[in-house]
Amino acid sequence: MEKVYPECQRCNTGVLVPLSDYGREGSSIMYKAWVCTNPECGFNIRIDNGEISRGREIKESLK
Ligand SMILES: [Zn+2]
Repeated sequence: MEKVYPECQRCNTGVLVPLSDYGREGSSIMYKAWVCTNPECGFNIRIDNGEISRGREIKESLK
């Protein structure tokens, strides 16, 4: 079966692919983040604790 990912609404070139993460107890968190496959675009959406955050670049916030 082919998986069809949504097109990136920003660059219309790449597609958004889901990324999974792992919780503290090893339980997988499906589709926590979506990232554009176009490296020149770099659009990404993350879902943290039910909130959607959009970043322009894939970087961790400095702390
Ligand atoms: Zn894009």
